[in-house]
Amino acid sequence: MASWTYDPVNKVYRDGNGDVLTLAQLIVIRDGLADGFEVIAAAIVFRYTNGEITLEEFAVLFTEFLWTANVAQFLLGRGGVNAVLPGELLAVEQMVITQTIYLSKFIRDMSSGSISAKQAAARATLYAGSAVHSFDIGRQTAFDGLQLPYYPADGLTLCGARCRCWWSISESATQYEAFWHTQEDKDVCETCLHRENESNPYVQHKTHPGGPDWKERMIQDQLGLYPDASLRPHQSRRAA
Ligand SMILES: [Zn+2]
Ligand SMILES: [Zn+2]
Repeated sequence: MASWTYDPVNKVYRDGNGDVLTLAQLIVIRDGLADGFEVIAAAIVFRYTNGEITLEEFAVLFTEFLWTANVAQFLLGRGGVNAVLPGELLAVEQMVITQTIYLSKFIRDMSSGSISAKQAAARATLYAGSAVHSFDIGRQTAFDGLQLPYYPADGLTLCGARCRCWWSISESATQYEAFWHTQEDKDVCETCLHRENESNPYVQHKTHPGGPDWKERMIQDQLGLYPDASLRPHQSRRAA
C-alpha cells in the first residue's frame, strides 16, 4: 500500500518515490470518501428504523458520524494529521455545529414519523455529501490567508450536497488563483456552471487576505491590477 506524505511547500501529497498525487487523484479519493460515508450514514438510520437503537442513541451516533466525516474530509484537504496546526480544526467545528442544527430538525421529523425509513436514509446521505465542503475548507487552510468565495457541496448550489465540483488552486509570490471546475456531465447545475464562469479564476492578492467582503476586495484587486478591463490578459481555465 502506498504511503503518502504531505509536501507543505507545494501543497501536494507525494508517494515514497516523491511522485505527486495529482489533484484529479485527490478528488477521486475525496469522492470515494463521500460515497463511503453515504453508506455509513444510511446504515445508522437503518439501525434506528429497524428498532435496534433509540432516537437518543441515533442522535449520538449520527453526531459522532458528522464529526468523523467532516474531520476526515478536512484533513484530506489540509494535508493530513501532521500538517494541521492547532486551532485549524475550529473551522470543522463550525461546520459540524451548523449541520447539527439541521440534524435536530431531521430527528424531529423521524420521531414524528413524518418521513419514511427510505426518505430518512436518503436524507442522511446528504450529510455525508455535504462533508465534501470540509475538504476545501482544509485545502484553503493549507494556503495561508486564502479565502475561497464558495465551496463544493456548500449547500448554496441547486445540486446541494450532491455537488462534486472541485477547485484547482495555484499561487505566485503575490496572489492566489483558484479555478472552479464542474464534473462537466449532464448533471451539472446552473449554479455550478455560473461559478465555473465566474471563478475563472477567482483571484486573491496575498496582501488582501479574504474576509466577508471578499467580492468587493476581489473587484478592487482586479481594478487595481487591470485599470482597463480590456487589457486584462486572457487566462485559460485549464492553465492551473
Ligand atoms: Zn457543483
Ligand atoms: Zn451544482
